Amino acid sequence: MPHHIRQLAVGAIQTHIINIGDVQEDLVRLLGATDGDVAAHPALFAQTARLPIQSIHLAAPGASILVDAGAYDYPPDSPLLIPGYTPPPDLLTSLAAAGIDAQAITHVVITHAHGDHFNALTEGEGEQARPCFPNARHYLGRGDWEKMQPELADPASLQSRTLGLLHRRGQLELVDSPLELAAGVTILPAAGESPGHQVVRAHSQGETLYCIGDLYHVSAEVEHPAWMPPWNDRAANGQSRAALNERFVAEDALLVATHIAEVGRIRRVGDGYMWSHCSMIED
Ligand SMILES: [Zn+2]
Repeated sequence: MPHHIRQLAVGAIQTHIINIGDVQEDLVRLLGATDGDVAAHPALFAQTARLPIQSIHLAAPGASILVDAGAYDYPPDSPLLIPGYTPPPDLLTSLAAAGIDAQAITHVVITHAHGDHFNALTEGEGEQARPCFPNARHYLGRGDWEKMQPELADPASLQSRTLGLLHRRGQLELVDSPLELAAGVTILPAAGESPGHQVVRAHSQGETLYCIGDLYHVSAEVEHPAWMPPWNDRAANGQSRAALNERFVAEDALLVATHIAEVGRIRRVGDGYMWSHCSMIED
């Protein structure tokens, strides 16, 4: 298996974690850090963080489920680009390399409507545009759909060409409460990063994994719950994090975040929580 694709079994659910490319981020900006935060954690904030963009495939009994569909298509002057870096092959190529048939995908969950999580849902331009996962139903948080109405009014926007196209074809479901997609696989709303942000819980044979989207972008946010991007709804994200942290600990769950390279677990430490990396990824 190529290096950018990793496999993990969760009971009877076979999982592939596919990195479509790394970006660099200024952590002060990303985490909304104050001068006091920077002074207290100089080593952390001195670095430029390198974050992957990961899609996750879950092969559950009777269902082929993709969580997020990103394409690495930044403009050449984007500050997110890492100098000299070449991204891995794109999502469709990587799915094929992992033996996953895009035509056979039954469900596509968009954790939230930020471009790097949904810009690979369709391919082709104008009249030729078509879904990359033509036989799948697609699931987006209703709050994100409502927020993108101004963009949907422009037929040339990314939103119109992807989620708008799927909506016109009757392939988009809007989610605002827990929704079971297949035996053991459930979407849970987790607003904060965006109004419709959602996570996916996969449970099989006593093992549990959550695809947590952008609930956390870097592991340091787990220990410092006040750290979150400036675009977040702070109250909503605080509630989502607190409620889910309890579940993550109670279920001893494995966690895959879109932008954290390592699979992890959350441990309770004193009054708070910490992210701990897991080394159980099979190559
Ligand atoms: Zn993201």
